[in-house]
Amino acid sequence: MKIDIVSVFPEYFEVLNLSLMGKAQSKGLLEITAHNLRDWTHDVHHSVDDTPVGGGAGMVMKPEVWAECLDELLGLDAPAGTDAAGTAVQPTSETSSAAPVLIFPNPSAPLFTQRDATELSHTEHLLFGCGRYEGYDSRIPDYYRAQGIDVREYSIGDYVLNGGEVAVSVMLEAITRLMPGFMGNPDSIVEESYTGEGALLEHRQYTKPAVWRGISVPEVLLSGDHGKVDRFRRDEELARTNEIRPDLIARLDCKALDKADRKT
Ligand code: SAM
Repeated sequence: MKIDIVSVFPEYFEVLNLSLMGKAQSKGLLEITAHNLRDWTHDVHHSVDDTPVGGGAGMVMKPEVWAECLDELLGLDAPAGTDAAGTAVQPTSETSSAAPVLIFPNPSAPLFTQRDATELSHTEHLLFGCGRYEGYDSRIPDYYRAQGIDVREYSIGDYVLNGGEVAVSVMLEAITRLMPGFMGNPDSIVEESYTGEGALLEHRQYTKPAVWRGISVPEVLLSGDHGKVDRFRRDEELARTNEIRPDLIARLDCKALDKADRKT
């Protein structure tokens, strides 16, 4: 998978060279390039922001700079008869089917979920645009949608971060670990929270010793009876999800339940 990230702090993404993401890059599974948005500026200050139209605090990221950068990375021409800073916004060239999915992190967008991560893990090329300040000019995603690009805006949670870099790192890790070949043991991504038909929270986990500081692991886990262990874990998943995330239970498809579940 090819991944391009645009940010005013591309150094943030040096951490992606560590651990499993680093290994996936060495294996050639991932090719990650972090670009500096300021490389597409033309003024001495390399400015990427301006005051909000309509007033208000803070600064907003300018569409012209983003457009020059995204046009180049998406392989699109600037609108006919203008440069990237032009005012005429007409749908232009046909978008190639190989165009990347363009993703902007945004706290006021729909929540990014495991389902999105699973879908995007099958994509060949992702392009992320990191917002800063009060965010980016809203016409940027509108414009690229009008060009036929698959543009997504996602929030990673109900809180506000300083910039999109951390949000992109979170989404990237969730997406790439689902790629075939990324995990040493592919089973470890099958039995997880938010995964599969039911998309429940996972059961609690224990390792050895069986008693630690006076606290025992549940007896059934030591029984060697796989049927009983599976039933115990499934009951725990249903009970924990009901308690901690009743919204997930409310969305649960009845087809994902078996007879024994219905008694739980
Ligand atoms: N003014 C915006 C608002 O109130 O919705 C907040 C802008 S925030 C300070 C700057 C940038 O950080 C955003 O454009 C976005 O890229 C990123 N960001 C902040 N919180 C985020 C979240 N919860 N999910 C995804 N991106 C986030």
